[in-house]
Amino acid sequence: MPYVLPRTGELGPPARVVVTPAGVRYLDPAWDESWRDLDGALWEVRGGAPTGPPAYTAELHPARQREAMEGLLCAGCAGPADRGPDGMLWLLPLLGAGPDTRWEGVRTAIPPMCAACAEVAPTVCPVLGDGHVELRVWEAELIGVRGTLHPRPGEPGDPDPDALVLHDTPDLRFVVARQAVRELCRTTVVSLRAGAAPRSASSFPAVDADRASRRPAPVTSSCGRFWTPGPPVAHTWRAGTPPSQPGRRRGTWMHRRT
Ligand SMILES: [Zn+2]
Repeated sequence: MPYVLPRTGELGPPARVVVTPAGVRYLDPAWDESWRDLDGALWEVRGGAPTGPPAYTAELHPARQREAMEGLLCAGCAGPADRGPDGMLWLLPLLGAGPDTRWEGVRTAIPPMCAACAEVAPTVCPVLGDGHVELRVWEAELIGVRGTLHPRPGEPGDPDPDALVLHDTPDLRFVVARQAVRELCRTTVVSLRAGAAPRSASSFPAVDADRASRRPAPVTSSCGRFWTPGPPVAHTWRAGTPPSQPGRRRGTWMHRRT
């Protein structure tokens, strides 16, 4: 089962937040500190347990998506994403994209993949199975987060449950983040498929035993439905160089694993 997907038992309601003039926060200061990243964004804490079948149509699990996206780990097995002369491997669903879609500068919440998982994923994930593009990517900057954007106190309107909030913007203090978003640049389209016949999920590569033992059982949620075209900006990762270590750069994982 893909590492970044949630199980149905993990789809509990998110922890409640309060909105203050300074931004959103958890009532418990310890929680607030634990779940806030270096950029100041607060991350969603979701209730539930890693039980039940994979939730293929749900959003990717916030903690595991973030771990994979920030560490450039494979979405399927949490191992290193595949890197080659043409860059890092990314598999994105087409979601109605036409043949003239411009993939350069695409913004996505879907982590990269290793070669073995990219082989299997379209046959396991119904979203990718409906059509997908395989990209090789030279540059992929963490540009922001996807989450629920709350209005400032006194402002009218309801929270926007599906907002893309960029780093270094005032909205970052008012969003409860669920997904880290990268912008893919210097892309090469390797292949584009309209669909693939589903088969058993049992052939998906297993998650590394050490990782599986120290975290909640690797599990499921959707194959990641989020991508939008966008203009290229500055870049942080370049093919051929290792990504920064977690905790050493902006947007990194600050949750304390105890
Ligand atoms: Zn993999």
